Amino acid sequence: MSPTTQCSGRGLRSVVIVGGGTAGWMVAAGLARVLEGSSCEVTLVESEAIGTVGVGEATIPSLRAFHELLGIDEQEFLRATRATFKLAIQFREWGGRGETFLHPFGPYGIDIKHELFQAYWLKRRSEGCPSALDEWSVTGLAASLGRFGTRSTDESSPLRNLTYAYHLDATLYARLLRAYAEERGVRRIEGRVVDVAVGPRGWVDSLRLADGRSVTGDFFIDCSGFESLIIARALQTGYVDWSHWFPCDSAVAVQCESAAAPVLHTRATARETGWQWRIPLQHRVGNGYVYSSAHLSDDEAATDLLQRLEGAPISAPRHLRFKAGRRASAWVGNCLALGLAAGFLEPLESTSIHLIQTGLGRLFALFPDRDFDPAVSAEYNRLTALEYEHVRDFLILHYAASTRDDSAFWRDCRVMRLPDSLAYKRDLFTKTGRIAILEQETFAAASWLAIYTGLGIWPQRYEPAIDIFGSPATPLGFEAMRERIRAAVETLQTA
Ligand SMILES: Cc1cc2nc3c(=O)[nH]c(=O)nc-3n(C[C@H](O)[C@H](O)[C@H](O)COP(=O)(O)OP(=O)(O)OC[C@H]3O[C@@H](n4cnc5c(N)ncnc54)[C@H](O)[C@@H]3O)c2cc1C
Repeated sequence: MSPTTQCSGRGLRSVVIVGGGTAGWMVAAGLARVLEGSSCEVTLVESEAIGTVGVGEATIPSLRAFHELLGIDEQEFLRATRATFKLAIQFREWGGRGETFLHPFGPYGIDIKHELFQAYWLKRRSEGCPSALDEWSVTGLAASLGRFGTRSTDESSPLRNLTYAYHLDATLYARLLRAYAEERGVRRIEGRVVDVAVGPRGWVDSLRLADGRSVTGDFFIDCSGFESLIIARALQTGYVDWSHWFPCDSAVAVQCESAAAPVLHTRATARETGWQWRIPLQHRVGNGYVYSSAHLSDDEAATDLLQRLEGAPISAPRHLRFKAGRRASAWVGNCLALGLAAGFLEPLESTSIHLIQTGLGRLFALFPDRDFDPAVSAEYNRLTALEYEHVRDFLILHYAASTRDDSAFWRDCRVMRLPDSLAYKRDLFTKTGRIAILEQETFAAASWLAIYTGLGIWPQRYEPAIDIFGSPATPLGFEAMRERIRAAVETLQTA
């Protein structure tokens, strides 16, 4: 007898989200949108007294797809969250003192596959004609020149490669998403969860609030931040600790007044014992120092950061402690963790909000019924683990490839043993000029090229195939591509 495809008729009747930070309200808004018209109820429990982590203000371009799904108008979003446009991350002092490079969004070249662009660019370099990588990226050049405008829809225009994300105010963003979700029927409960009742199968039955109320549901989404209230505290799910690869375990964050018009990039400046971020918004600048508590005290970090602000501080320094890693299983039984409850990777490439979004996308693709088939959660966990590991490797590269040796912190980074997966990628690149892109990879080859070469890692050769199969362009044609990019960017307005 052949197996038949069956629907269980046991669809979810209710989803309970714990936590009202960026993760909780992104999940609530996303569910409100995709469950529109269904009978499944969504409830969010949060405690204003506990508050949110309140940082997390730089994003990557994928967020625009989330807003498209929700149908949020860009102008409304910019107004509500006092957001600015972000085209790149500028890395200062990572390769060495005084050195700066850019990691722009989007591709290099025009009408050319990345592998060919890269091979040709490296070949020109080996022929004694080196050129700055940024000049080959519409987005990178626009960021360097401080120019921005509408992405072209004209297939022949280099400006169709203009790729951007946002800097946003995290508190205002959560507020915007909350309004969106509540308008679409999400019920919000103010209250502190003090107990989680777990049934005999290891599934969550209900939450008990401090005032004695009980909240029941079919499916629980743990967005309780570092607290990891359900997934870790109640369900005792372990943590895959990556702190041996990440020298920093602390951050101090301060907001300050803007001293100049916002620039089009996040700035990440390497310091003696970590790195400092600068995120310009319309109304203020977010700043933070990510550091190693083994090398610097909290007071020293705060003093250091305050001394380096470009405008007057408008908030008290906020200290945060973290451990790099991911939850061993983000989905267990009828509980899924998203956001900081699922793991933490430092904000060097602004990936946390993106990881919430991709986790949510995976949830939609693998949406459960009340049977919570372990095969579904296993697939979710497999894909999530891969995604976190690839982001982890990309971030480690920034530390491991730095040639700085001016402090114990950087000297420790230089002798770090890489994860095998990163060692493989780095070897492949240095020996052959090839970039390995694996399943569930967040960053495209263009991003890896920016970081490798920005930090001074060059391959011993370019891909030999371009000499055998023929070059995509003559040197003149290749140089003309750069001129087209510049001419197009110069038509954009000064930001
Ligand atoms: C230093 C630092 C810098 C960062 N920078 C970036 C960045 O630039 N870009 C980026 O993408 N990400 C960044 N992140 C990550 C980003 O801040 C988080 O991914 C994002 O804010 C999501 O957090 P969250 O919603 O999971 O947790 P939180 O914001 O901590 O929210 C947790 C929620 O759970 C609630 N809660 C907790 N316990 C209980 C309880 N017992 N009962 C009821 N409610 C409870 C809280 O009240 C809160 O509403 C950064 C993180 C840190 C630490």
